[in-house]
Amino acid sequence: MFLRAYPAGKPAVLSAGLQIHLPFVAEGELLVYHDRHGAHLLRSETPAPANALYLGDLDGVPCLAFSPALPADDDAVEAENVKRLGLRSLFGHLPDEEITVAGYASQLIRWHKNARFCPACGGPTHNDDGWNQKCAACGFSHYPPATPAVLILVHDGAGNILLAQKEGWGKRYSILAGFVEPGESLEDCCRRETVEEVQVTVGECTYDGSQTWPFPHQLMVGFICCYESGEIVPDPTELSHAAWFHHTNLPELPPPYALSRQLIDRWIAQQ
Ligand SMILES: [Zn+2]
Repeated sequence: MFLRAYPAGKPAVLSAGLQIHLPFVAEGELLVYHDRHGAHLLRSETPAPANALYLGDLDGVPCLAFSPALPADDDAVEAENVKRLGLRSLFGHLPDEEITVAGYASQLIRWHKNARFCPACGGPTHNDDGWNQKCAACGFSHYPPATPAVLILVHDGAGNILLAQKEGWGKRYSILAGFVEPGESLEDCCRRETVEEVQVTVGECTYDGSQTWPFPHQLMVGFICCYESGEIVPDPTELSHAAWFHHTNLPELPPPYALSRQLIDRWIAQQ
């Protein structure tokens, strides 16, 4: 079980012993242990660098994220069974709790890199209480973002689901999705996006789960929405195709680790 550090920050002294290390060698690229059985976060008895971010404890082992100084030859960071892999490629390979920690770490590493200057006055910031960066000049404080986006499973109540395809997805179809706009509820976002993307209106929208998606800092929120009216007309700037599919005759779907697929699987189980 992963227990986040609270308040976020490093204890004065981390107890000696085993640590879980998340070294980000490039934007979104992590060194992990990898062999033919699968991938795991690195474990080490050697303490992480002093500037490492302490994230919390996974099964009692402290987790530390950092950006190691790279040798001239980038490939030298790889060792036997230690590989640099993109975070996206680790979904479905790292154990669930480890991918959660890795996604959290990647967002904080990026935050620390991008939040060094105040968005209000441009002055330098420093880490305050928690993860926020505070400006010494004007006092403005800003926090790591989490951007909500909805996943919208539209069904017609008669065993059919609305699936859409985007350019570059190959044969894969998925449910609709969209970013929440300022001043908008999640349910209103579902209703607006279905009209914008396929000119279909939906009625009741019921929450069905969420997933952190660290590309770069999205929070996916899944809804099951009841079709109300309209013929499907896909917006060509967003979608290449959209149609109704019966639950017994579905096209290629997203991989099992994606919330969109989990929503579809739960809906199928209810048919
Ligand atoms: Zn400022």
